[in-house]
Amino acid sequence: MSQLRFKVVDEAFNRKADPVAIPAERPQAYYGKNVFNRQKMFEYLPADTFEALIYAIDNKEALPREVADSVAEGMKQWAIDMGARHYTHWFQPLTETTAEKHDGFVEHDGKGGVIEKFNGKLLVQQEPDASSFPNGGIRNTFEARGYSAWDISSPAFIMGNTLCIPTIFISYTGESLDYKTPLLRALNSVDKAATAVARYFDPEVKHVKSYLGWEQEYFLVDEALYSARPDLMLTGRTLMGHESAKNQQLEDHYFGAIPSRVEAFMLDLEIECHRLGIPAKTRHNEVAPNQFELAPIFEETNLANDHNLLLMSLIAEVARRHHFRVLLHEKPFAGINGSGKHNNWSLGTDRGVLLFAPGKDTKQNLQFITFVVNVMAAVHRHNALLKASIASATNAHRLGANEAPPAIISIFTGSQLAEILERIATATNSELTDLSNREGLRLNVSQIPEIMLDNTDRNRTSPFAFTGNRFEFRAVGSSANCASAMIALNAAVAEQLISFKAKVDAHVANGETLRDALLEEIRVLIKESAPIHFDGNGYSDEWKAEAARRGLDCETSVPKIFDAYLRPESVKMFADAGVFSKVELEARNEVKWEMYTKKVQIEARVLGDLALNHVLPVAIRYQSILLDNVSKIRSIFPDDKAARMSASEIDTIEAIATHCRMIKEETEAMVEARKVANRIASERDKAIAYHDTVVPRMDVIRRHIDKLELMVDNEMWPLPKYRELLFIR
Ligand code: ADP
Ligand code: MG
Repeated sequence: MSQLRFKVVDEAFNRKADPVAIPAERPQAYYGKNVFNRQKMFEYLPADTFEALIYAIDNKEALPREVADSVAEGMKQWAIDMGARHYTHWFQPLTETTAEKHDGFVEHDGKGGVIEKFNGKLLVQQEPDASSFPNGGIRNTFEARGYSAWDISSPAFIMGNTLCIPTIFISYTGESLDYKTPLLRALNSVDKAATAVARYFDPEVKHVKSYLGWEQEYFLVDEALYSARPDLMLTGRTLMGHESAKNQQLEDHYFGAIPSRVEAFMLDLEIECHRLGIPAKTRHNEVAPNQFELAPIFEETNLANDHNLLLMSLIAEVARRHHFRVLLHEKPFAGINGSGKHNNWSLGTDRGVLLFAPGKDTKQNLQFITFVVNVMAAVHRHNALLKASIASATNAHRLGANEAPPAIISIFTGSQLAEILERIATATNSELTDLSNREGLRLNVSQIPEIMLDNTDRNRTSPFAFTGNRFEFRAVGSSANCASAMIALNAAVAEQLISFKAKVDAHVANGETLRDALLEEIRVLIKESAPIHFDGNGYSDEWKAEAARRGLDCETSVPKIFDAYLRPESVKMFADAGVFSKVELEARNEVKWEMYTKKVQIEARVLGDLALNHVLPVAIRYQSILLDNVSKIRSIFPDDKAARMSASEIDTIEAIATHCRMIKEETEAMVEARKVANRIASERDKAIAYHDTVVPRMDVIRRHIDKLELMVDNEMWPLPKYRELLFIR
């Protein structure tokens, strides 16, 4: 067995960087080459079709059928010119990956041959045979129809030889079965709500857009090593493995020089991103060994999210080209940092103003404070829900661990913003109207310093941080669909802005000035949302106690965290925002619980198999070598001398026996716990049983295996060790 381990380590160690086919042109020449963007539309569509399509996109209107036919014809021509042979509706079922079913363009031509055909009907709507996608019981199998419909706000693109058309995925009865539908609904609701408030400051505002800039963290592992770790292959993380003596203590990986093999991979990936119109910009080493990050320039949230999902497919494909496997799991290795996907989020008007950015005059700063404070209030009110929006079986290994945001949502503002809020909360309106004072930020809202724009006062322990002109939702997991977090956040903020506006309008109707009305309601929100504001160390135990006192949600069990979706205030918020009906929320929670159970179930099975047929046989073989040696010592030396000579071996033999017995007993107990849990009918209760009775056993089994790894002869250990997985390039 160990033969395989040494072979793969050797293979990985000697691997050289793969050459990258760098295009001769500069990026601007091939950027968006594989995207049916406005420029291609202009080129391939008749003028009136082009205009009608752009109008529909810009005004969020449905596309008339004749226009769709004409668009389909142009799009097909472009795709064929690009070498595509198939097309697919590309959608986002509740599995956290994307789905596609390819159809060829070919149709009978009636003369025994074929022609390439594509029409508006096929472009705009399809009926994928989708009965096996998770739906939480919404679609009974006798009504297995799901519809996918083109989201014209996200352009079609070509992956490989296939034209991909971004679509929503809904049931026959109109319930969403995906992430895109509710995301579009949430973006719509925040657009309306924020536009109404932004008009206080600029009556010309017609739309408010939500922006997302994600930062994708990931690990790379050599493919040979990966193939020798069944746990990585089947679950995306290592279920066992003793910590490497050296890991990230020296902090020598973060922003370190990028190894040449990795650099070649990154370059290749960026070129592919640019062809697909994903504006990849930043790359660097992350904190943990073999951990890296890619970040694009931010875009409108719906498009940015499509691009993140596309990136997640692309990165896996390009990694294989370079003999790597990419790990998007939130915690592939115990004891070192896990991977998140920071969601940098902001709102901006169609007049080019970012609403979370301080401005140059009183009006802009009052607008800035208005929006920031409303976000704080929304996050405070729905802190449990926001946590639920990022919770998953995989992210649970990262949240609350030592390097990631804790499993409590709070907002970091930085000291400057904190002082401004404090000042507004305590000053009277007339004190705040003194705009002539030039004593800096302590004084009034007209004087928010520019320096805040490059707020470097970063608190890495905060799950939700204000970073100068945006908020950074850091608790999102690296493998997640960002839409989940973006749906909850945008909808919650929409609800808050609607209620804020109603109150401000009421003051104004009573004869108050708009400014006084705004300040009054801002003051109320600052006070109400004070408990969500925390600039201290989120990893500390004191914070956990303090957060509980403040009434923030401190639940750590993922299946119970999901309950937040069904709280009355969440149901009402989502219904008012037109994002989810109660039926949808219930169905989606069923899916979440089921997914949780399945993930733990698979891990538990893999761990059980590896424990029983990889680890125990090797440990016992090594133990019998020791036993053999002891009995030989005894046959040669006098008793007292033999006892002294074999004392340490006897200790090891006993220790191995203890660990083996514990592994065996705990594995049996884990199997039994699964059997009991599997008999539970309710998905929620089943997931809770898995969390409470299966997961803790897995932790115990792992502990004993990791101890054995240190005892058993290195030559015999079957699985590549952490030091080999993490330090070989
Ligand atoms: P850091 O690691 O320092 O947080 P990065 O440069 O890695 O920063 O990533 C920051 C991300 O935030 C990028 O995707 C960037 O485009 C995005 N971003 C910057 N400004 C905004 C904004 N106003 N709204 C949304 N995203 C933004
Ligand atoms: Mg960041």
